Amino acid sequence: MSSRTILITGGAGFIGSNFIPFFLGEHQGISVVNLDKLTYAGNLQHLEDVKDNERYKFVQGDICDVDLVKSIFAEYQISDVIHFAAESHVDNSIEGPEAFIKTNINGTFTLLEAARKHWFNSANCPKKQFESSRFHHISTDEVYGSLGESGFFDEDTAYAPNSPYSASKAASDFLVRSYFHTYGLNVVTSNCSNNYGPKQHDEKLIPTIIRKALAGEDIPIYGDGKNVRDWLYVLDHCTGIGAAFSKGEAGETYVIGGDNEHNNISIAKAICTILDQVHPKENGSYGEQITFVKDRLGHDFRYAIDARKIKTELGWEPQFNFDAGLKKTVSWYLSKYQKS
Ligand code: NAD
Repeated sequence: MSSRTILITGGAGFIGSNFIPFFLGEHQGISVVNLDKLTYAGNLQHLEDVKDNERYKFVQGDICDVDLVKSIFAEYQISDVIHFAAESHVDNSIEGPEAFIKTNINGTFTLLEAARKHWFNSANCPKKQFESSRFHHISTDEVYGSLGESGFFDEDTAYAPNSPYSASKAASDFLVRSYFHTYGLNVVTSNCSNNYGPKQHDEKLIPTIIRKALAGEDIPIYGDGKNVRDWLYVLDHCTGIGAAFSKGEAGETYVIGGDNEHNNISIAKAICTILDQVHPKENGSYGEQITFVKDRLGHDFRYAIDARKIKTELGWEPQFNFDAGLKKTVSWYLSKYQKS
């Protein structure tokens, strides 16, 4: 492996499996070790393009496993961490929060400790390297709670998490912050809005709409469908992470968003309209399958992001227009669900 070896956690998940091929392509001088437990949410088929790349290595394991994480730092001489691994589905955190506490809080703590002990021990790392060794923590805008009809989250918004998922992510953000202030670990945190695109797990909103539509089943929409999210194409998130990882200031947070607010019912209708065009039903339109179901407990009303900091300080801009991104996404799932 080449001189900089980045530990990527959760690389078999939705965002990680989009990020790894992008990152290896952008940086010819680096290698990646992907540590993933392969929970129900991980899928190695999404990494087919890189599996034979000599700069890529996969290790199946749990970020909470102290001995394993320590041995990975030592064996591969890990120079940096980009930490995606998490339990990520809000509905699951309502049904069973325990796994969220373990992975999102204890797992992040395990990684921080391993990084601190490895990088700050000069027998492991020459001084220059540990000063530049970066720990990039991937987080969510959900830590900021819910907005009303107006306003935006930015880096100064007070934390107000409302679900066990967002509370566990908030706790992990605070742990990361504390390692900067207490130990001087070179951390960066990015808090992003809802991602969409290929490789997302079936359980999430957009894949569910497409899957149910194609199966001829009810397309379930929570409550009155008016909850608003800011949607960002996953590859735009990847470039944002790349910018924050390489150019972000130590100890800083960057919020990342698409300036692209939509409520759930309009997302469902937009997807049904695309399906009507590219995969018409024999009778009627897919929109007729949309059904309102009992709202999620504690459902946050609106998330929106003011991403001026990453744009002005790091020169990041999203590239994907929502209509084009949604069409690409529908076409990816159409081919997936038609094969299965
Ligand atoms: P995902 O659920 O698709 O993938 C999570 C990955 O982590 C899976 O491959 C899973 O196997 C792995 N994993 C889970 N527990 C593990 C453990 N204990 N040890 C090792 N690996 C483990 O999630 P995602 O949507 O790709 O999200 C990645 C990160 O981005 C998460 O931290 C999430 O909070 C954050 N995020 C996601 C979104 C979004 O819209 N999806 C938005 C903002 C932030």
